[in-house]
Amino acid sequence: MNELFKSDAFENSVAQFEKVCNILELEDWIVEKFRTPQRTLIVDCPIHMDNGKVKVFSGYRIQHNQTLGPCKGGIRFHPTVDMGEVASLAMNMTWKCALSELPFGGAKGGITVDPKSLSSNELQSLSRRYTAEILPIIGPNKDIPAPDLGTDPQIMSWIMDTYSMSVGYTSPSVVTGKPLNIGGSLGREEATGFGVAFATEAAISYEKKELSNMEVVIQGFGNVGSYAALKLKEMGCIIVAISDSKGGIYNPFGLPIEHIAELHKEGMKISDYEEADKITNEELFGIDCDIFVPSALGGVINENNASKLKCSLIVEGANGPTTPGADEILEDRGVKVLPDILANSGGVIVSYFEWVQGIQEFYWQKEIVFDELKTRIQNKYNKLIEYAVDKRLTLRSAALMMGIQRVADATRLRGIYP
Ligand code: NAD
Repeated sequence: MNELFKSDAFENSVAQFEKVCNILELEDWIVEKFRTPQRTLIVDCPIHMDNGKVKVFSGYRIQHNQTLGPCKGGIRFHPTVDMGEVASLAMNMTWKCALSELPFGGAKGGITVDPKSLSSNELQSLSRRYTAEILPIIGPNKDIPAPDLGTDPQIMSWIMDTYSMSVGYTSPSVVTGKPLNIGGSLGREEATGFGVAFATEAAISYEKKELSNMEVVIQGFGNVGSYAALKLKEMGCIIVAISDSKGGIYNPFGLPIEHIAELHKEGMKISDYEEADKITNEELFGIDCDIFVPSALGGVINENNASKLKCSLIVEGANGPTTPGADEILEDRGVKVLPDILANSGGVIVSYFEWVQGIQEFYWQKEIVFDELKTRIQNKYNKLIEYAVDKRLTLRSAALMMGIQRVADATRLRGIYP
């Protein structure tokens, strides 16, 4: 383990990687190359605060691997961001892009900050200064950021503008997840959450069951959680509980998700919704349901609570929500885990569509975006389950192996430079 990246998140990613490397029988030099990121940039971002003082924030952009193409990965603004977490997420992106057969490598970025504690001016200054600092290593053919926890289309606009001002021409394809009128893609906002629902549907129909009336619990009601809830409800599921960082709500007969999503967009905290029982985020884990969808932070399903979950399927909307220790407990209990690198791949798949549309300057209808997304996720799930059944693997191990194998094959073909 490289000491620079020492953290629970990175250790978990390396443990998952090493577990399947042994089965894949990769050459030692490939394992060593993949175990740590290819390029790591640490930046200081000083900004003028509204109170006249200057505050300095730490930021990172880590490119794990660019064998298959330019790097792709979100930018996270959150108080817990550190180098290990960013490195772990960057590694995850390499396997995710490879599994989805996208022409991208994996990267991730972040700033250690609570974005809610900043004014809009401060947030803009921080986004622009961070972009200026990472500018030498990003670009439409180098590394293309996107939104993640705590970042949104407005922040992507500031990144795109800062980059464009610096290179001297408008460059929409430097980021994805942009608003529509500056080169965004229809459907990108909903993509990750809808992709979670499409992956769930594929998993349930493979078992010859119906999604209709299945009970679902969702942790996190941001971009991923809210659109997953809306789509799963449209598919006939009963969403019995949801939460955000302040707490959750529960109704065994189902929550009116469309109405709650509207109120939430206007600023309501989930726990302030009055026509349901209030629950804590801890209690959420003990609710009886068919499907549990973690859509917030990493490491939330761990050895302390994996035995309390009362579902038969976990669909990982978040990145890295389940620790390796929890995976073992869940496997013993027969709880199936649909891993993040497939379950939340809708975001990067539609980011890829956005990048392609930007380069071609030819924009698609929303139906085409969702049809193409659904087909890709369903086909990938079907290939994944066949591979997992054939090799007697969990879905996580199978997904990682399919992704890692693709990067390893390309690495061997390209050889070592110089
Ligand atoms: P977001 O900032 O839009 O929403 C995060 C949600 O999680 C919010 O509702 C927040 O209140 C809630 N939350 C935060 N801490 C919590 C806690 N301790 N307990 C319960 N809820 C908590 O972020 P997002 O874009 O929806 O991302 C959520 C997860 O999905 C992250 O793990 C991210 O890496 C992953 N992801 C996002 C995308 C994307 O396109 N946005 C793509 C793939 C994966």
